Amino acid sequence: MGEEAKVVRASVGTRLRRGLRFARTRVRELRMIGKALASTKHPILVHVIPMRQCNLACTYCNEYDDFSKPVPLEEMETRLDLLADMGTSIITISGGEPLMHPELDEVIRHIRRRGMIAGMITNGFYLNRERIERLNAAGLEHLQISIDNVVPDDVSKKSLKTLDGRLEMLAQYAVFQVNINSVLGSGVKDPEDALKIARRAVLLGFTSTVGIIHDNNGQLKPLGEHEQEIFEAVMELGKRSFSRFNDFQHNVARGKEHEWRCRSGSRYLYICEDGLVHWCSQQRGYPGIPLAQYTPEMRHREYLTEKFCAARCTVSCVQQVGILDNWRDPQNLKPMPMTPASPPAQLVQIGQGRGDS
Ligand code: SF4
Ligand code: SF4
Repeated sequence: MGEEAKVVRASVGTRLRRGLRFARTRVRELRMIGKALASTKHPILVHVIPMRQCNLACTYCNEYDDFSKPVPLEEMETRLDLLADMGTSIITISGGEPLMHPELDEVIRHIRRRGMIAGMITNGFYLNRERIERLNAAGLEHLQISIDNVVPDDVSKKSLKTLDGRLEMLAQYAVFQVNINSVLGSGVKDPEDALKIARRAVLLGFTSTVGIIHDNNGQLKPLGEHEQEIFEAVMELGKRSFSRFNDFQHNVARGKEHEWRCRSGSRYLYICEDGLVHWCSQQRGYPGIPLAQYTPEMRHREYLTEKFCAARCTVSCVQQVGILDNWRDPQNLKPMPMTPASPPAQLVQIGQGRGDS
């Protein structure tokens, strides 16, 4: 996919609607920041999983299966109501592949009805004009697609070649904001791909970010010199994204440990398909408590709990949430023992986090 690739433009009507939705979302984001600075009592960002099943099978991924059923809409609405009642600002729908959920539009509508900002992470394979229009109508505000390579290979089919037509449709019809995430690091055959993907994203009017992969033991590993150059170039291209405020990723790129306070379990929550609260996608199984039983006291305890994995963490979305509280409230508590009452859920440390979040 070269830079001679087609540039597509949205109609005047779509551009107007896009501008309006963008302005409204920005106002709500600024309100979200003000509310987060004024109080530490509510979650800022929550990832929810309405569908663990995925249509792809990227070999590095352990966040999907090929059999599980969608979480019923009623159950999703109950969870979203609990989160709205906690004062949550942003919901990001993730998976598996959320576009496989038959009632996804209603899930998005419910997020918006309850006054929360609605985002989604998808592999993009189910996007077409009709689906994009439905997402517009449901009120989606952010969409992220992770693209792993320029040409599909044995590891991942999420490539620019397979997805470029869908990206063009998004550029033409989407009124929500689109971010394209590329990856660098261990296991990525051609680091130049990240730059090609980011350039294409910017050409189509999207924001772009770059995630860094762990090595096989889930440990942060410095990028090589050439990869670091590419990383900086992609970060420069992605200047419109909020992630530019995050110096953490620069540390990850250099393999440096990072000093910060991870507020997962409190300001950030990961709600799996079974409705259990987890620290994040990389630390599933803890605390593993059903959302309906997750009290403000538990959230406050997690707020003050030091996370053993923080120094070498690569989860950029939790890092960005952390920025709002890093300056206050030192963490001096240790993790609580695992709750025996939870349904089976293992502590999962993902070997190769792709920085999808
Ligand atoms: S990385 Fe995303 S697209 Fe690939 S298998 Fe996992 S959930 Fe599916
Ligand atoms: S892996 Fe990162 S985001 Fe997850 S709990 Fe550890 S420090 Fe927090």
